Amino acid sequence: MAKNNTLHIAMFPWLALGHLIPYLELAKLIAKKGHTISFISTPRNIDRLQKLSPNLVPLIHFVKLPLPHVENLSRDAEATSDVPLKDIGLLEKAYDHLQEPLKLNIPTCFFSIFIAAPLCYMCPASGDEDHRRVVEDYTVTPKWITIPSSVSYRLFESRKLFPSMTGNEENVPLPFRFRETLKGCDLIAVRTCIEVEHDYLNLLEQLHRKPVIPIGVLPNQISGGDDDETIDTHWRCIREFLDSKEKGSVVYVAFGSEAKPNQEELNEIALGLELSGLPFFWVLRKRRGAADTEVVELPDGFEERVKSRGVVFTSWAPQMKILAHDSVGGLLTHSGWSSVVEALQFARALVLLTFYADQGLNAKFFEEKKVGFLVPRQEHDGSFTRKSVAESLRMVIVEEEGKVYRDKAKELKGLLGDVHRQNLLILKIHFSLHLLRSLPILPTLFSKAP
Ligand code: UDP
Repeated sequence: MAKNNTLHIAMFPWLALGHLIPYLELAKLIAKKGHTISFISTPRNIDRLQKLSPNLVPLIHFVKLPLPHVENLSRDAEATSDVPLKDIGLLEKAYDHLQEPLKLNIPTCFFSIFIAAPLCYMCPASGDEDHRRVVEDYTVTPKWITIPSSVSYRLFESRKLFPSMTGNEENVPLPFRFRETLKGCDLIAVRTCIEVEHDYLNLLEQLHRKPVIPIGVLPNQISGGDDDETIDTHWRCIREFLDSKEKGSVVYVAFGSEAKPNQEELNEIALGLELSGLPFFWVLRKRRGAADTEVVELPDGFEERVKSRGVVFTSWAPQMKILAHDSVGGLLTHSGWSSVVEALQFARALVLLTFYADQGLNAKFFEEKKVGFLVPRQEHDGSFTRKSVAESLRMVIVEEEGKVYRDKAKELKGLLGDVHRQNLLILKIHFSLHLLRSLPILPTLFSKAP
C-alpha cells in the first residue's frame, strides 16, 4: 500500500470514546507526515468525534462499520458507555467480529492508550511464565514488576481491576486478551514518555522482546462528544458558573467515559464534596448502580444544599474547556490516563479515586511519583468514606500539606508544553512508521484483540 513512500494505515480502536480520542490525536500526527489513515469504528462512535480540520480531511478517512449481531447485545450498544459492565464481554465479541476482515497477516502495531506500568503488570512475559488463571492470582504482584511497591493488591481491588477477569463463556478474560495482543503484534507503541516511565518502558521491551516506542502523551486539543452546537450551549452555562468562582478554587469531578460509581460510592462522593466546603463541578452522566440495572440517585436534598457552590452536570462535558478555566484548582478523577494528561496540561492538581480496569494501577503509579493523591480506603472492605474524600480534596486543593501535588502538576505542565518534546514525538512516530514499512502490506493499529 505504500504510495510515494507513504503508508496507508488502518486504525481500529476499542469501542470506548476514551480510546477513540487518543487514537484520533495519533492519526492527526501521522497524517501530518503525509500518511493516509482509515479510522474504523461504529457509526455512532465516529459521529461523536470532533470534526477534522480541512487539511486532514483528505488523509483521515472515517470508515463506519455497523456493529455485528451478537446475541443479547442491543444493536444500539456501540460503546462501553452503552453497555452494563457485566455485558462488556458481549461488546468484546462484537469488536472481535468487526476486526475479523482485517486479519490478513498484515503487520500490526499495538497502540496502548495505557501507560507502560499497568501493561507490564497485566501482561505476562510469556505463556510459560504466567500461571495466573483466576482473580486471586492477581492479588500478588508478579515477580517481573516492582509496582505496586507499597501495597500488594488485595482481592477487592483486583476484582475492580479486572471485572472480566474470571471470564465466562461470553467473555475472554482481559489479561489474556492483552497477552494475545502483545504476543501477536510486531511493534508496541505506548502513549507515554521516557521522562515519566523510563523503567517500565525498558521492562516492557525486555518482557516482550520487540520494539517498544514511547510516542508521547498525545495532549488532547479538544475532546470529542456531542455536536459542537450542544457543547457551545452547555459551555455558556458552565462558564457562567466557573466565572463566578475564585481562581483555583473549584474541584472538577469527572470519571471518564466508562466508570460508573454504584449507589454507595455515589453517596460518599456527594457527601464528601458537601463536607469539603469547596465549590465543585461534577460530571455524572449515567446514574447506574453496581449491577448496572438499578439507577443510582444523589442523596436526598444534596443538590438543594449545595446549589450555590456546586453543579451536577448530567451530559457529556467539554472537559478540556473546563480544565482550562482559571477557577478550576484540581480534578477528582478515576485516574484515566487521558483525564490525567488533560488536567496536567493546565497544571490542575489530582485527587485519585479508582473504579476498575487500568485505573487502580495507574493510580498506584501516579501516587508513587507524587503526581496525585489517592483517596484512602478502609482496610477491611476497600470502601472509601465521605470524610476521606473531603479531606483528600481539601489537602490537595487548598492546604499547605498538599502543595507538593500542586507543584508537581506545574512541573509536569512544563513537560507537556515543551515544543522541543513535541517535535521529538513526531520524529518517533516517523521512526515507528519506518519500522512498519519494513514489514509487508498494510499496517493496522488496534487496541484490543481476541
Ligand atoms: N470526556 C469528556 N467529557 C466527559 C467525559 C469524558 O470530554 O463528560 C473525555 C475526557 O476529556 C477524556 C476522555 O473522555 O479525553 C476520557 O478518557 P480517560 O482516559 O480519562 O477515561 P476512560 O473514559 O478511558 O475511562
